[in-house]
Amino acid sequence: MKYKRVLLKVSGGALSGERDFGFEKDSLDRITDEIIKASNSGIEVAVLVGGGNIFRGKTADDWNIERAEADNIGMMATIINSLILRGALVSKGAHDLRVMTPIPMNTVAEPYIRLRAVHHLDKGKIIILGGGIGQPFVTTDYASLQRAIEIRADVVLMAKQGTDGVYTDNPNTNPEAKRYKTLTYDEAISKNLKVVDGSAFILAKDYKMPMYIFDFNKKDSITDICSGKNIGTFVGNDCEIEMY
Ligand code: UDP
Repeated sequence: MKYKRVLLKVSGGALSGERDFGFEKDSLDRITDEIIKASNSGIEVAVLVGGGNIFRGKTADDWNIERAEADNIGMMATIINSLILRGALVSKGAHDLRVMTPIPMNTVAEPYIRLRAVHHLDKGKIIILGGGIGQPFVTTDYASLQRAIEIRADVVLMAKQGTDGVYTDNPNTNPEAKRYKTLTYDEAISKNLKVVDGSAFILAKDYKMPMYIFDFNKKDSITDICSGKNIGTFVGNDCEIEMY
């Protein structure tokens, strides 16, 4: 297996599927099936959950509230998403899992303690990381990289809904846009490719954390990537830039 320990970033949008807000049962089903399949095949899975299906801090001005407060609301949204994911995973028999959060919430989730998270993964438990890094002014893209480095993940899997990788331009508006097979962090940063936050790219580059951006609607995507197939865009430090 090419990658044994993965950090899977599941955005809020993946949970809401076709809807603009909330949850869609089919999407939840698909996501939980993939997570269980990966875990059962021996992959150590840490899931970091977004909150965009409920609230994003960048809408602070629309609501006339301070950004830091809006970010708190966004972080709470990620915890709601973590709990629905836990509920759905448990209902499918995945009892060996933990929700962890850096925001104290002891009656519903464990505190995030780095070495405890590592221990759970060593024991084969799935961990769901809610609440991002517990601090405002960043998003869960950044939190994914931060936690991946902390828990010594081999790779970050940025699961996207309906986007099968990184393109040179927006493929919905530019028919000439080409999809990268492999990409370097330098190229992603210098071209300002907006697939994940710039701060997440910079952290990944500094700590040499490889990343895949891929379409989560594709079946077996986690197990395929972990067994060495490139089904999306691979981003790394020292690779040749290749297009599809
Ligand atoms: N957030 C934060 N700190 C973190 C992670 C998230 O303040 O460490 C807030 C931020 O407002 C963000 C929101 O939580 O917009 C929801 O996360 P995100 O937008 O990354 O969700 P996604 O787009 O992945 O669904």
